[in-house]
Amino acid sequence: MPVNYRKYGALGGLLLAAACQRATYPTATAPLAAPPVAPGVARELAEFRRQTISRVTYEVELTVPADKAAPVLAQEIITFNLRDNRAPVQLDFKGQASQLRSLTINGQPAAPDYRLEHLVLPAAALRAGRNVVHIGLTAGDLSLNRNADYLYTLLVPDRARTVFPVFDQPNLKAPLTLSLTVPAAWQAVANGPLHDSLRADGQKTYHFLPSDSISTYLFSFAAGRFKQVTRAVSGRPMSFLHRETDTTKIRLSLPAIFRLHGEALAFLEDYTGIPYPFQKFDFTAIPDFQYGGMEHVGNIDYKASSLFLDEGATKDQLLARQNLIGHETAHMWFGDLVTMQWFNDVWMKEVFANFMADKLNPEAAAGPAQLLKFVTDHYPAAYAVDRTAGANPIRQPLENLQDAGSLYGNIIYHKAPIMMRQLERLMGEDPFREGIREYLKKYAHGNATWPDLIAILDAHTPADLAAWNQVWVNQPGRPVFDYALQTPTGQPAQLVVSQRAEDGSDRLWPQQFEVLAVYPSGPVALPVNMNQRTVTVPLPAGKGAPSYVLLNAQGLGYGVFPVAPAAADHLAALADPVARASTYIALYENMLSGRGLAPRPLLDCLVAQTAHEANDLNIKLLTGQLSAIFWQFLTPAERTALAPAVEKALWQALQAQPRPGEQKLYFKAYQSVALTSAAQQRLFQIWQSQKAPGLVKLTEDDYTALALALAVRDYPAPQPILTQQLARITNVDRRQRLQFLMPALSPEVAVRDQFFASLKDEKNREKEAWVQSALGYLHHPLRQATSEKYLPASLDLLAEIQQTGDIFFPAGWLQATLGSYQSAAAAATVRSFLAAHPRYNPQLRAKVLQAADDLFRAEKLVK
Ligand SMILES: [Zn+2]
Repeated sequence: MPVNYRKYGALGGLLLAAACQRATYPTATAPLAAPPVAPGVARELAEFRRQTISRVTYEVELTVPADKAAPVLAQEIITFNLRDNRAPVQLDFKGQASQLRSLTINGQPAAPDYRLEHLVLPAAALRAGRNVVHIGLTAGDLSLNRNADYLYTLLVPDRARTVFPVFDQPNLKAPLTLSLTVPAAWQAVANGPLHDSLRADGQKTYHFLPSDSISTYLFSFAAGRFKQVTRAVSGRPMSFLHRETDTTKIRLSLPAIFRLHGEALAFLEDYTGIPYPFQKFDFTAIPDFQYGGMEHVGNIDYKASSLFLDEGATKDQLLARQNLIGHETAHMWFGDLVTMQWFNDVWMKEVFANFMADKLNPEAAAGPAQLLKFVTDHYPAAYAVDRTAGANPIRQPLENLQDAGSLYGNIIYHKAPIMMRQLERLMGEDPFREGIREYLKKYAHGNATWPDLIAILDAHTPADLAAWNQVWVNQPGRPVFDYALQTPTGQPAQLVVSQRAEDGSDRLWPQQFEVLAVYPSGPVALPVNMNQRTVTVPLPAGKGAPSYVLLNAQGLGYGVFPVAPAAADHLAALADPVARASTYIALYENMLSGRGLAPRPLLDCLVAQTAHEANDLNIKLLTGQLSAIFWQFLTPAERTALAPAVEKALWQALQAQPRPGEQKLYFKAYQSVALTSAAQQRLFQIWQSQKAPGLVKLTEDDYTALALALAVRDYPAPQPILTQQLARITNVDRRQRLQFLMPALSPEVAVRDQFFASLKDEKNREKEAWVQSALGYLHHPLRQATSEKYLPASLDLLAEIQQTGDIFFPAGWLQATLGSYQSAAAAATVRSFLAAHPRYNPQLRAKVLQAADDLFRAEKLVK
């Protein structure tokens, strides 16, 4: 919906959005014209099919050979009701015409008419009413993720159409009845419950019952050599497939994995008032899965390393796992039960999944821990995009599903939860929850838009949700705050807080946050309802002027908040970890904006704070900022000069912590900055002896990371470190990852050149997580003199990467490539690329501007 809501004024936004909604999905009385055949899944086609096609079902039989290069043969039966048969029906299929081997429409054989990613069924062969289509084909491999002894589908957002012909749009939900013939030793799981499995000729056929009626992006199966664990949690059977071999990880993780799913389900049933709405609840751990997880109905997929943790796991990793399980489980209601009409609202399911995951954290009872996690998880990540020239609004237009991947990113995963929390605060928890329940009940097993939800919520609050929606959801950007302490004669002191848009536009972000007025006798917390451009907050009478004020002390305000010099000086004295987190974030944002502390004094401030910071989430935030400033916003000469002091402070902080988790975070920071030969020697000894310092527990993955950190520093070891590390790894999946990374870290420039050149071949980019890790090392600040030459080709590849890669890959590729440069030459390369492509895909251009933001800022900040 590329409509500029702003010109209609704030109040018009909601009405217009609702009007657009009606225009987008007209009733049966206003038929659209049959759309032309065009690549992808155009919005126009989806709307037409939504009007004319209903009651879709799919039956699919797939035969997967043991040899991953051999084709997967498929038989498919699609049935659907057609309102009238005046126009041809387009099935989405992104493949080759030669893959379509046979076609029968309503019992009559037909020659497949394959054009522009569509199998076109001629009108003459169709009937008004029920139609049955049989298709024999070679299934597409692109999204089957075929490995030597396992495969799995990942079909979001429009990848179902790469496997077999479908109506690939979220609002034509259908049951999928799947049969999978696989090598006899393989396990298999799909959306529907298992009916039976039959062995014949060294193969095994799994027959699954019809799945619930679900969107095509949720179609899923996995098969291969997996171990199956089945347990009942609160009476509900759950089956879990995995390939983990580390017995410690298995022993320590399995109970938690099942328990966390059970807790998440119980919480969501209670919050939504709707019992778990599907037939079964299983999950699978996939090595190097592209995302943390994917919420397939009846079969959630997870990245194995996010689920399997051992005794070396930090509290942060444990919380992240709990959050991930909560997120995917929440999707069963938010996304799977009620689904967006079109992928422009994909952010809704993501924001609710995150929002619910944050809520169901059992530590919520303890309050501050949950709040701290919310603040440290979401605000820095949201600002990382929203501060850039490539910032996008939460709700974006989408004309073709093939571009849906570019909608994903930090704004929908991190700014949207912040927005939702502010919305809940504006409405109150109970009215908000009532509205959510009404929405889920009304649209269960169907589809809804954001305006549909806002219309329901609007009835539960006297607040002006239209104006609110406009600035928070339909537009990008954030406000910058200022304040003044005033003492009018004869009256108590008062605080005047003002906000303005960072981009200079005339906008206001209604929001609520807390101010801490710090007096010699102690702090006083004051709520601020920032519903105006300027708000005056009366300070307590009889106390005089405070020593200083801390704006946004609970971290929930959104924007750039100034930090009083006294607040920066008294960081160590701030007892509340949330107030410290909020201050770290504000100091960093101000530094990037060129106001407040410059990089060098901020680094000094953070280094000094390592002696005091003992909260694990804050250590992660603080050391992350410290490392970023060290590598990106200091000159190489400053780095060399400061390294001994920074390393010393981090090592002392490690030793001062009483617990292994916090020690490990400081150790990781030490490993990240280690620049002096003494520090590198110390790391080498730890790696060689496999004796972690202090109470720190290092896992095999940690030793691999340590080996990689030494290799990128060209540590002069007697034997090549990575070769030795490879010999230590027994798990085949982890060995392959290191083998892939090794040439990217080679001491030989020619080998690295060759590695980079190999990425131009799509085949070598299949394991996207590996590619991103490899690029991070390839473009490490210590390697940039020889790697900067890869930048033009890396940018040239971007458009192809969007076509061939998964949804997070373009941003991941750019971030891993550009993310740690600081030179004027690198900035010029990016600028000339953008100048040379004036008609470049606007969403990709935005991703480039996002990834290059620190680079552009470094030009001004590094002196
Ligand atoms: Zn999600």
